Amino acid sequence: MTPPVTSATNGPDPLPTEAAAELHARLTFDLDVDLCVIGAGLAGLSVALEAAQLGLSVAVLEGRRVGWAASGATLGSVLPGYGVPIGDLIDRVGVAHAGELWKLSHEGMAIVRARATEEAMPGIALSAGALEVSNVDLGDRLITRLQTLGVDFGSEVEGWQIDRVREVLRTQRYFHAIHFPDAFQLDGRRYIRGLEAMARRAGVRIFEDTPALGIDSSGIRKRIVTPHARLRASDIVLAGNVHLGAASPRLTRTLLPMWRTAVLTAPLGERLAEAIAFPGSIADTHGVDHYRIVGGDRLLWTGPETTFEIPPRRLEGLIRRRIAALYPQLGAVAIERSWSGVIGQTVHGMPQIGELRRGLWVASGFGRQGLAATTIAGRLIARGIVHGDRRWQLFDPFELVWAGGRIGRVVGQGVAIAERRTAIAAGMLARYRERAAERRRLREERLEAANRSVRRFPAERTPTARPAESPDHAVQDEHRADSGGQH
Ligand SMILES: Cc1cc2nc3c(=O)[nH]c(=O)nc-3n(C[C@H](O)[C@H](O)[C@H](O)COP(=O)(O)OP(=O)(O)OC[C@H]3O[C@@H](n4cnc5c(N)ncnc54)[C@H](O)[C@@H]3O)c2cc1C
Repeated sequence: MTPPVTSATNGPDPLPTEAAAELHARLTFDLDVDLCVIGAGLAGLSVALEAAQLGLSVAVLEGRRVGWAASGATLGSVLPGYGVPIGDLIDRVGVAHAGELWKLSHEGMAIVRARATEEAMPGIALSAGALEVSNVDLGDRLITRLQTLGVDFGSEVEGWQIDRVREVLRTQRYFHAIHFPDAFQLDGRRYIRGLEAMARRAGVRIFEDTPALGIDSSGIRKRIVTPHARLRASDIVLAGNVHLGAASPRLTRTLLPMWRTAVLTAPLGERLAEAIAFPGSIADTHGVDHYRIVGGDRLLWTGPETTFEIPPRRLEGLIRRRIAALYPQLGAVAIERSWSGVIGQTVHGMPQIGELRRGLWVASGFGRQGLAATTIAGRLIARGIVHGDRRWQLFDPFELVWAGGRIGRVVGQGVAIAERRTAIAAGMLARYRERAAERRRLREERLEAANRSVRRFPAERTPTARPAESPDHAVQDEHRADSGGQH
């Protein structure tokens, strides 16, 4: 049975202590199973559940607690795709292949929705829609993306013009947006508890405080060593993400750990609905901010990523400033809780899904968009093991690439900061251009009005009289504005 969760809002929350002994069992005896899954995050539990439903005996080894890592920290946004710009994906594998991958992510979304609703996960609180907003004025790029997603991939998407965006998000910082009406949000913490409960009901045995210290995957029956016992299994799935450590150092080296901090604000009252009138999640195209309203009048917000761990409390000020920059009308915003989680970022940005060698599988590197992708990974791998389904091979082009170790993290942090600065600068430039265009429009209106009045009263014109603003002035003003004059 799923233990009750203590609070109605999102964010990691320890399991209540009742039934802890049964739930937190360690592996203390040797065991033989069909499948051993290493890691009880979203990826590990998804594979384990699907495999058990197909009749395999499954053991999950979790070094700490179920959902302890990134999987217990999500904002609960279930979005299509993999967090990689669709153009990059097409450049790498072509339109048809990218379209198949996109469809798989939709399949993952549908499975999550079915689990959350049909399995009646208590209080899962689904909310609809997601907006990907642009902080630069690039309507033409938006149209290209809409064509790819809507026409080539047959996805449900809508392009929103600037006015419509600003009707629901009262900030001057956003321009166009893509609306994904079939995306949805759920309480991420309740979802992972529900997934755990489903897996246990399907017969999965989950052992917590049981790290896999080493594996021998050479034989038909593979061996896994833990502190107090050994396992033998026909198949192993490595779903430990960046924490895998000694169990597979080679795989760990292919992931760049990125810490993502989230905050939950105190109730903000009616002013929040006046600033944000969109029920789903909002993310900007530069991946800087991702947020949504929870519990009626609070904000759940994740800010910039870091490649080194920084205590979440120290990043609260930065997130508060991001909120104030976008929605100054909210005034002072108190933060009630903050937490962070580490995501595993691959060099190519796509998850690692597939069979590394016979019977040794991988499901990791889901980055910042793991809810749908871990789910489809679970289905593909389980069906690959049981039915020989080869659809996981769609992920073959995204091979394991060394992420650069410590130097990679330093460089990654530099790139993240540079990208953030570029995004902020691009946003400022776009807003500047918008203001300049508005000034131009007003000048043209004034000029037109002046010309009309001149035409209406030709007799009043004298050779020395000048209209309120001459075309020459307008051109000069425009030139001043375009060359970066103060405004
Ligand atoms: C703040 C934040 C917000 C996010 N919001 C969203 C969102 O709204 N939507 C979305 O789709 N995604 C979101 N994500 C991304 C998502 O959380 C991840 O992509 C996903 O959880 C990755 O799941 P995972 O199972 O691969 O890894 P993890 O959650 O890292 O789980 C790996 C597990 O394996 C265990 N493990 C590792 N090595 C071993 C070993 N040797 N032996 C035993 N156990 C081991 C670890 O203890 C851990 O529990 C967010 C992430 C963060 C940090």
